[in-house]
Amino acid sequence: MGRALIIGAGGVASVVVHKCCQNNDVFEEICIASRTKSKCDALKESVKQYKTKVTTAQVDANNVPELVALIKEYKPQIVINVALPYQDLTIMDACLETKVDYLDTANYEPEDTAKFEYKWQWAYREKFEKAGITAVLGSGFDPGVTGVFSAYALKHQFDEINYIDILDANAGDHGYPFATNFNPEINIREVSAKGSYIENGKWIETEPMEIKRVYDFPEIGEKDMYLLHHEELESLALNIKGIKRIRFFMTFSQNYLTHLKCLENVAMTSIEPIDYEGKKIVPLQFLKAVLPDPASLGPRTKGKTNIGCIFIGNKDGKEKHYYLYNVCDHEECYKEVGSQAISYTTGVPAMIGAMMLLTGKWKKPGVYNVEEFDPDPYMDALNKWGLPWNESFTPNLVE
Ligand code: NDP
Repeated sequence: MGRALIIGAGGVASVVVHKCCQNNDVFEEICIASRTKSKCDALKESVKQYKTKVTTAQVDANNVPELVALIKEYKPQIVINVALPYQDLTIMDACLETKVDYLDTANYEPEDTAKFEYKWQWAYREKFEKAGITAVLGSGFDPGVTGVFSAYALKHQFDEINYIDILDANAGDHGYPFATNFNPEINIREVSAKGSYIENGKWIETEPMEIKRVYDFPEIGEKDMYLLHHEELESLALNIKGIKRIRFFMTFSQNYLTHLKCLENVAMTSIEPIDYEGKKIVPLQFLKAVLPDPASLGPRTKGKTNIGCIFIGNKDGKEKHYYLYNVCDHEECYKEVGSQAISYTTGVPAMIGAMMLLTGKWKKPGVYNVEEFDPDPYMDALNKWGLPWNESFTPNLVE
């Protein structure tokens, strides 16, 4: 049926490639294009047992003319951006120029300021609408499935949702003293930033890791979790009517936080370039180079993730509580696609979002977040493609 261009060849891209190949009826042909072509070729080799026709290409996704040339040559119906958030705008520009649909898993972030928000990508709304092409923003797990969960809860369980708590727990153990589960630079920028949440239409800022709660997660048990700023708060507060408060919590072990504090204290997490032996280097980028590659964690990681949303709202005049979540097992993911659960829980929804576009279910010209589409076909696809969801009507609430 379709032809997709996948940009990036890292941990998440690897899962997207495997899942597209498993879904050969929809993804008949894919091209894997990234900065380092050898990584694309290795990925191609890892899916050679499937029917999908796979090609590879070298591309610098910061360079619009290069992207345009590749898109014109390959003629995909969709570009799946699983490179880094820094490349979102150049890839969107190339999609506009060639009139091809676009999908990503993380919102744009300028490389020199650790601040991510949707304003840069939402500014493309009119241009995409006029060009008759669709951009789906943030189709990973969080953002992504958390937005689809919210749209589904509103459609089927509530008249109005007033409170959402998004809980992201990873009880995986990779055996290293310190490593990040996805791109270390993006991950450390996210967790060392100030926290924030939205209450009554206003952002409330907190110090990094200032708000801590303990939660007893289904299938994982009790974990410490910390309030973080997260990108879907911004779009969900706008798109889910009636929201009074929305927060995001992620679990971290004391060991992870102690390492992070040490690295911060010695300025290794800084994104300010410094002079080193006559060369400018960014400490965080250097740190990324010495930390374990997230793609290498797959064979070592044991345990489960649990990511979901707790909703409080009203149905037929009565207060109602509802918890939607997915539990994913690191070792099962590795057995299936050769990646750990963090890449898996991001890559599967990216494939599903692309399938929604290719099959016309989510086709509407403009730039949209996932919660702005019909959640039902996506929710069915989650069950079918490896991320089945669970629901509870009596969840423990977060204080
Ligand atoms: P990786 O670092 O493993 O992979 C990134 C890939 O992008 C690498 O192959 C890299 O190439 C490539 N790349 C970087 N810059 C360029 C460029 N200028 N031109 C072409 N290719 C480039 O990251 P992950 O796979 O872990 O993450 C991918 C994306 O997924 C990120 O945007 C991340 O924020 C997002 N994500 C979203 C989540 C969600 O739930 N929504 C959760 C986790 C991640 P090279 O190999 O040469 O370095």
